[in-house]
Amino acid sequence: MRTITLIVLHCSGTRTTQKYSFRQCREDHLQRGWKDIGYHYYITRDGQVHEGRALWQVGAHCKGHNRHSIGICYEGGLDSLGTPCDTRTRAQRQSLRALLTRLHDQFPTAIILGHRDLSPDLDGNGRVDPEEWMKQCPCFDALLDYEDLEPMDLLDMRSDCLEE
Ligand SMILES: [Zn+2]
Repeated sequence: MRTITLIVLHCSGTRTTQKYSFRQCREDHLQRGWKDIGYHYYITRDGQVHEGRALWQVGAHCKGHNRHSIGICYEGGLDSLGTPCDTRTRAQRQSLRALLTRLHDQFPTAIILGHRDLSPDLDGNGRVDPEEWMKQCPCFDALLDYEDLEPMDLLDMRSDCLEE
């Protein structure tokens, strides 16, 4: 197995009014010349978890971070007008949490975060602020939502920050 330091969450960047199936996503990635879908898991609006690449395989979902990460994508991320928005359905939230709980057991030191949290920290303040996001993906605050599943040392670091 590879060393896993990050679990990166993505959205498909499609509207709630548009169906974007696992099959279609894989098809689009194959069209780009990739050998398979770029993600390890893809969660459709009905909450079904589709398995993409095997965990031991390097994914193609976040340039510069693929080697040591797992990529998970949920279908959606844009409202009906195309505005970035947390469109996770109840079923998707449940599946995502169950999946992350399982992965956290398997990789307890891996940090769970959103694609946008890996944008460059332009002003060097040690934090990637909203205006520094290269894109909105996954359109919600993964560090906050899954705080209880983050590795212990990350939680300690955050509480230290709060005490200052
Ligand atoms: Zn993404």
